[in-house]
Amino acid sequence: MYLLSELLRENNHIHTRYSKCASHQMTVSQIVSRARQLGLRKIALVDHDHDNAENFLQQQEELLREVRACQLQEVPEIIVGAELSAFGVGKYLLSEDEMKKIKFRLFAVNHYHLPFWEHPRSSSARAYAEHLLESTRAVVQSGLAHCIAHPFVANYLKKKVADYTKVTQAIRDAELADIFMLSNEYNVSWELNYRTIFADPSFARRFWQIGNEMGVKFLFGTDAHTLSGIEEPRVMELQIETILSEKVSV
Ligand SMILES: [Zn+2]
Ligand SMILES: [Zn+2]
Repeated sequence: MYLLSELLRENNHIHTRYSKCASHQMTVSQIVSRARQLGLRKIALVDHDHDNAENFLQQQEELLREVRACQLQEVPEIIVGAELSAFGVGKYLLSEDEMKKIKFRLFAVNHYHLPFWEHPRSSSARAYAEHLLESTRAVVQSGLAHCIAHPFVANYLKKKVADYTKVTQAIRDAELADIFMLSNEYNVSWELNYRTIFADPSFARRFWQIGNEMGVKFLFGTDAHTLSGIEEPRVMELQIETILSEKVSV
C-alpha cells in the first residue's frame, strides 16, 4: 500500500502560463519558489499540447531555459513534460517523434469538453466507459506514456450528461484490474489527481483500492493552474485520507 504522505511530496501536474487556461502568475520562478516553500521534492510542468501544437517543442525549449535559470538548488527536482492529448482511440495531436522528445509524457484521454475530441457514437454511460477504456488501453500500449492524467473520470462531460459519475460506475472492477495489469507490463503510471478525488469520490476509492491490489505505480498531481493550486501537502493528506478511507456504500 502506498503511503499517501510520500506521494504528496511530489506534484506531477502543474500548468505554467504557457497553458491558456492557467494564470499569468504561473512563471517557472514563482512555481518553484512556491514548491520550495511547501517542501516539495519534485514537480512536473505539464502544459497542454493543444494550445500551441504547431510550436510545442519550441515552447518546451523556452520553458527549459527558464528552468535552468532558476534551478540553483537541488530541491525540488523540476521536470519539463507535457499534458498530451489522446483525443480518440490511437489519435494524438503531436507526432510520435515530437512526443518522444518530451521528457515526461502525461496523457489526457478524457478532455471531452474540447471541440476536437472524439465522442462515442452513443452518449450512454457505458458507451463513454468503453470509449475511455479503449483510448486509455491504446495510450498504454503505445509505449509513449509515462502516466495517465485524471484517469477515467468524466467530469469534463458535465455539460453533456446529467450525472457524469455514471460513466465510471459503468466501468467494471475486472476491467480496471485488466488495464492496471497492462500498465504494469508497459510501465505506465496512474495519476492520483487531487481534483478528481473530490469530483468522483466513489470511483477514487475503487481506483485507489484496486490499483494498490494490482501494485500499479501512482503519481500525485493537483492539476494546478494557479499558484494556490499547488496545494499544501499536509492539508491535502487529511482531506484525501478522509475520502479514500470512507466505506463504499452499496
Ligand atoms: Zn487535463
Ligand atoms: Zn492539466
